Amino acid sequence: MANANVRVRFCPSPTGNPHVGLVRTALFNWAYARHTGGTMVFRIEDTDAARDSEESYRQLLDSLRWLGLDWDEGPEVGGPHAPYRQSERMDLYRDVAGKLLAAGHAYRCYCTALELEARRDAARAAGRPSGYDGTCRDLTEEQRAAFEADGRESIVRFRMPDEPITFTDLVRGELTFTPDNVPDFGIVRANGAPLYTLVNPVDDALMEITHVLRGEDLLSSTPRQIALYRALIELGLAKEIPAFGHLPYVMGEGNKKLSKRDPQSSLNLYRERGFLPEGLLNYLSLLGWSFSADQDVFTVPEMIERFDVADVNANPARFDLKKAESINGDHIRMLDVKAFTEACEPWLTAPHANWAPESFDRAKWEAIAPYAQTRLTVLSDITANVDFLFLDAPVEDEASWAKAMKGDPAALLTTAREKLDAADWTSAESLKEAVLAAGEAHGLKLGKAQAPVRVAVTGRTVGLPLFESLEILGRERTLARVDAALARLTA
Ligand code: GLU
Ligand code: ZN
Repeated sequence: MANANVRVRFCPSPTGNPHVGLVRTALFNWAYARHTGGTMVFRIEDTDAARDSEESYRQLLDSLRWLGLDWDEGPEVGGPHAPYRQSERMDLYRDVAGKLLAAGHAYRCYCTALELEARRDAARAAGRPSGYDGTCRDLTEEQRAAFEADGRESIVRFRMPDEPITFTDLVRGELTFTPDNVPDFGIVRANGAPLYTLVNPVDDALMEITHVLRGEDLLSSTPRQIALYRALIELGLAKEIPAFGHLPYVMGEGNKKLSKRDPQSSLNLYRERGFLPEGLLNYLSLLGWSFSADQDVFTVPEMIERFDVADVNANPARFDLKKAESINGDHIRMLDVKAFTEACEPWLTAPHANWAPESFDRAKWEAIAPYAQTRLTVLSDITANVDFLFLDAPVEDEASWAKAMKGDPAALLTTAREKLDAADWTSAESLKEAVLAAGEAHGLKLGKAQAPVRVAVTGRTVGLPLFESLEILGRERTLARVDAALARLTA
């Protein structure tokens, strides 16, 4: 449904490499913004100087650009709520924390780590809730002054209401959190550094975010954020509490949550293997959402047209690499040949190409590209599929050799060579007939007869359609390779 008032945000912390869970969150926010005609806000939550890095920041921007997930407000784009990097908004947070303290929504907590720990252990032992126990909630002026005089440090703690907090999650329906489960929480460190618990909802409020769509791992922070929002509304700093939707967990191998550290979850890996952005986005959109009951391959515009948070499924999603590859293969086939050849370009040059740059033959590449396009699931496979055209001698894959050359194919190869020599080299069909005839002469079906030829010519047992490959390689080079294989067999 069109709703230009929708404002969503993607607000990662720049730590480590972008991972698929993060991209799924970005995608769902973006698709919802584009579906509704609303606004996509991109904010960088870099308030943890010890963990944040400029390298990670740069990678985040680069990844979103590569995927085509653009933003209407944020870094490099600007917008009415700039700056969009939290490290540049510290004065703002200090100001809000001051107002929360002054209004009594927050208070200074002087408990030391040791004291907190001792009381937590005691509460646990007694079977009571073990969160912060409210010791400093209602300190008198004198008590406070005494702590300050002692030189005690203090954090700022938010005062949670004593009633339960209920909200309707866009994905999970109505949820209620009781006060026992959501104790007062820190919002500013003793050194004055504001925490995620403060800066995230404060920025959502100031940036007028209407829908918070994020991973289920953040569900426990939602009641706190709602309480903080209420305080901000009272102070005139926020207008309305946003709607929340928590996207389901993504499970990896062995039914364990896919973790950031899982190699399978690294976005760069998919990029390096030659996933197309649209193939990857198609697959990632299926982690918690579906396009229709009988179609799981679709374009990004088609996704945008249908995407609604209300249709996101609360059940954990399963990450299935095979399916991701198969969907990517379908997207490779949806390209026109020109786009396909261009997309392969990085894998036909250094550092991927295993041939000398001057051996590359564009005419041969363009002749074979349409056949490659029917086979690949990831673009990086192109190198090994076409290198036989550009190398002086094919890569010798020993496992392929052992498999295809068992028995004694020398006699077969000799016949195949004769028939190929006499064949019409402008026709793949004629080359096929030559190998077929050679097989017949030795009592072999085509499949068995062509395997030694393929390994002799390309070095591998699997590859692109063989007879088209031979035609493109040419008579002289094909026959020379059969000769070389025969020499090896008879040595
Ligand atoms: N910076 C937080 C994170 O990356 C954002 C969480 C949120 O979406 O509220 O986990
Ligand atoms: Zn305290």
